[in-house]
Order: sequence, then structure tokens, then C-alpha cells
Amino acid sequence: MTHQTTAELQRLDSAHHMHPFTDFKALGEEGSRIITHAEGVYIHDSEGNCILDGMAGLWCVNLGYGREELVEAATQQMRELPFYNNFFKTTHPPAVKLAEKLCQLAPSHINRVFFTGSGSEANDTVLRMVRRYWTIKGKPEKHIVISRENAYHGSTVAGLSLGGMAPMHEQTGPLVPGIEHVRQPYWFGEGRDHSPEEFGRLCAQAIEDRILALGADNVAAFIAEPVQGAGGAIVPPESYWPAVKDVLAKYDILLVADEVICGFGRLGEWFGSQHYGLKPDLMPIAKGLSSGYLPIGAVLVGDRVAETLIDEGGEFFHGFTYSGHPVCAAVALKNIELMEAEGIVDKVRDDLGPYLARRWAELNDHPIVGETRSLGLIGALELVANKASGERFDKSLSAGNLCRDICFENGLVMRSVGDAMVISPPLVITREQIDELVTLARRALDETARRLEKHTAKEVNA
Ligand SMILES: *Cc1c(COP(=O)(O)O)cnc(C)c1O
Repeated sequence: MTHQTTAELQRLDSAHHMHPFTDFKALGEEGSRIITHAEGVYIHDSEGNCILDGMAGLWCVNLGYGREELVEAATQQMRELPFYNNFFKTTHPPAVKLAEKLCQLAPSHINRVFFTGSGSEANDTVLRMVRRYWTIKGKPEKHIVISRENAYHGSTVAGLSLGGMAPMHEQTGPLVPGIEHVRQPYWFGEGRDHSPEEFGRLCAQAIEDRILALGADNVAAFIAEPVQGAGGAIVPPESYWPAVKDVLAKYDILLVADEVICGFGRLGEWFGSQHYGLKPDLMPIAKGLSSGYLPIGAVLVGDRVAETLIDEGGEFFHGFTYSGHPVCAAVALKNIELMEAEGIVDKVRDDLGPYLARRWAELNDHPIVGETRSLGLIGALELVANKASGERFDKSLSAGNLCRDICFENGLVMRSVGDAMVISPPLVITREQIDELVTLARRALDETARRLEKHTAKEVNA
């Protein structure tokens, strides 16, 4: 391979490569940052910068970069059997072993796995399973799925229809019918007229109100992430999940916990549902399943749905060429084996999570920070123009994007969701690296504040 300069690569990139979730023209003018290699929690770009990856790639590189054991697992499996499908009465050892392993880790009522290639495909699968389930049960009219505004469940048409991202809906035209959205438990953004606990209950009440308005006989399932990730690392008030559980039980509505981000240790348990004591009927997973080294997703299927599909359903006309891909499955298995051997989930719960919570909360004293929050190794802070009132910066300033760009220029990947700054670092991050992350974040906040100075409320007599 010939050595190409940054400028050459950027030119070719803007000439031929349409990036995901990107304003193609604007990026073409600016030029992409080119990431060339990575090690541990650090990524390196083609200009020689070393950057602390506070987002674990895209919420997925939980074991960090450069894990030879995963490379080895992929190499070995590629040599042995690079591909075979699981259609037509065949399978292979990696798919079988991974299915068994996942059921061993999942709550005890979950004993079946359906493999997909991604989180979006997992949520497409969820929609089909949920509707198929009620049809088999003789209730085809029980088909509506309730989701939440600002939810992210993927970018296929079913995925984005289940999601509640208004800009995605607007660009897509008619969505998959039979999906409803209710308010999200985003206290800082939408609930500050109430106490967090009261607001959590109101959000659960909104689900019940919608069920009653639609008729419980028409509602199949409720889908949500235990902690919303792409929506802005939104940790719900403690009152939310217990109240939601009660509502769903009262009207016999299936619970789908989207574990694509929360799964595999992010919240200090194997699954986020376990942190909140949820008993989901279906759990879509992806991302951390393979630490992002290869694309793989799945739906973990609880006994209630699985047994109905198996015993009464006949052939289920659904699946993907790469469902249970042997190389991806082998890497996922090795990933889980390493997580177990290194005690990563317990470390997040008992040590790194509490440590991050303490250090991250220190940023609360910053003049443009209105709130910090974290759980396990996911966290966010809210940028505000007026610390006393919590008033936001004017939208036209794009304060979040500004802060994100300043972070990147100064050696830290931190993502912006509106004016919420989000972190989700690799689970192998050390305490020292958490210190470094917080230091870099504070420096970026200082610089963001400096550049937005004339828009920031002076602390008069707060
Ligand atoms: C990323 C994500 C998805 C979609 O996964 P892809 O692999 O990108 O298709 C679905 N749900 C949640 C919660 C996600 O974060």
C-alpha cells in the first residue's frame, strides 16, 4: 500500500465516501479527521495526535483497542470456517457456544437467542417477534409498540420508527405504522418544575395514559433503554422503572429493554436491566457484545415469547445472511471470556463507576455546567448559559458542538447531544485515565466558556 498523506485521504474521502449521520457537503469542505491506529483507551490520527477516547468508539469498544486475544480468535476462526449460515438446518460451534454463553449471563427467564448483524437489525427483529407473538396468541390487534420521544433504536426503517428522533422521522416520510411515543424521563431537560421522583412517576403515568387512550387490547409492547444513551446519557429518576414495571404488568404489555449500550457492563452489571431489577421479555444487544471488533447483534428472547414462537409459531420467516456469523461469534465469545477473566463488570460496579461518579461530579462547580450525572461508565453534563436559572445557550451558538470540537482538538473524544456532553469510555479505563479525562473535560469547558463569554450570564448574586 502506498503511503497517502492526510490531504490526499481527505480529498478522496470527500469525493467518494458518504459518512453516516453527516452533512456531506459541510464535511467535504472541512475534511475528515483520519484515525489510523489505536491502543488501550487512546486513538491516534494521521497528524500524530493522541486522543483519549471518552466514547469507546461509538459506545462499543468496551475492552479497549489492540486486544491481541480478539485478533487471534478472529484469525483462528477465519482459517477454520470463515462463513457458514444458520438457515436450512445447519449451524456451527461459535454460534451455538455464544448462544449458550449469552443465556448463562442473562436473567434466568431468558434462554434463547436470535442473532443479527447489528443493533438496528435486532430492533427490526424485536418488532416482528412482538407482533408475531400476539398474533399467535390470537390477538393480532394487540400490535402497537409504545416507545419514547428522543429514543434511539437504530437507523433501519423499523429502527428509526421505534426510535423517537424527530429529525430522522422528518427525513423518512411515512414510518412503520403502529408505533407511539411518550415523554422521556429526562428530568434536567423537561422536568425541572417537579422533583426528580415526582417527574419519574409522571413519565410512567404518561405510559399508562397512552395505553388507556389506545386501549390495552391494542398495545403489544413498551421499548426503552434502561439508561438512554444516544438521547444524551439520560439516567431516569429512581422512581421511573418501578412505576413503569407496574404499569406494564397491569395491562399485560411486553417489556423490551434495548441493551445495545447498557449491556455488557456499561452500568456495572452484565445487562442494564439487572441494575434496575427489570425482567424484560426481549433484550436487543450489539455494540459491547464484541467490543465493536466485528459487527454482531442479537435479541435475547425470554421464555414467554420464545416458547410461543417455538411451540405454536411454525416457521418464522425472518433472518439475515450474517445471523450468527462464525467469526463475529468467535470474537464475541472471546470478548466475554476476557471480560469474565478480568472481572470487568464487577470492577465497573464497585470501583470505576463510583470513582467516575465522584470525579465527574466535581465538574458541577464549573460556571457553564448546569448538571452532571453518571451511572457505571456512562455520564453526561449539561451546558448552560446561566448556572443559577439553568437557562440554555441560544441554539444558534451550537454550544455542544463547539465544546465537542474543542475537546477533540485538545485530546479528548466527548460527544455532544444538543448541549449535553456525553462520555462512555472503554470499561478498561484506569483511575488515572479517568483523572486525565476529567482534567481534559474541564480544560475544554474553560475554553468553551471563554469563547461563549459574551453569551454567558455573569454570576451576579447567585
Ligand atoms: C447503536 C444503537 C442501536 C443501533 O445499533 P446499530 O448496530 O448501529 O444498528 C440500537 N439501539 C441502541 C440503544 C443503540 O445505541
